[in-house]
Amino acid sequence: MLRYLLNFFYPPRCSACIRRLPLDTNCHVCGECLARIEPLREPLCAVCGIPLGAELPGGNQWCPGCTQSPPHFSRARALTSYRSLDEEAQPVPSMIRRHKYGLDQSLGRALAECLGDRVPFVGEDYDVVIPVPLHPARLRWRGFNQAALLGGAIARRLDRPIEVATLMRVVPTPPQTSQDRRQRQLNVRAAFAVKRPQLVANRRVLLVDDVMTTGATADECARVLLRAGARRVDVFTLVRAV
Ligand SMILES: [Zn+2]
Ligand SMILES: [Zn+2]
Repeated sequence: MLRYLLNFFYPPRCSACIRRLPLDTNCHVCGECLARIEPLREPLCAVCGIPLGAELPGGNQWCPGCTQSPPHFSRARALTSYRSLDEEAQPVPSMIRRHKYGLDQSLGRALAECLGDRVPFVGEDYDVVIPVPLHPARLRWRGFNQAALLGGAIARRLDRPIEVATLMRVVPTPPQTSQDRRQRQLNVRAAFAVKRPQLVANRRVLLVDDVMTTGATADECARVLLRAGARRVDVFTLVRAV
């Protein structure tokens, strides 16, 4: 009843398409948007998770990029893909963009609804969930870290602890729009540090971020986590640029 009254005065809207939701709802994403979240098309690169388009000869399921310079993480997977051309038509990217500079904390719950039972990892494989951090200055400016909200949702889903004060961003990196892979690698070099190595030593880490484009950020985070003693680093992102 209270929810109904609250919803009556503040009509709930879908976090992705902003259409009105029923007044008696406790959801943040409409059924249509949930149904439109498309998984990446198999076969995927065994390492970075990019769609390969077709089976590669000889059973080699590594993409050319991973074959040439293998990343530090073992396996990266994403909930859905991102094609910049039709962003508005894709529920998850449009939701991320809408919340990127907003203060809406309901994003965490909307993300959890989008995940549903589609997380391509199982809890037993990991000891800790670690979100890709923002630089403290950017965090103050933006008010929240989307990767941490997502990390919280994943940690609850997998029933694993989340650790947000270990991996730190020590150098602010410029927004990574319209840069190639090489430039992005240079940008993130030395941008991260592990403050309390004992919290990652000998542990299996699931690193979580909202978007993966070239994979340079995830690769650099994995590198410093492994150097700090992590046993293995896998990566989950909400969306993957294809
Ligand atoms: Zn919707
Ligand atoms: Zn790959």
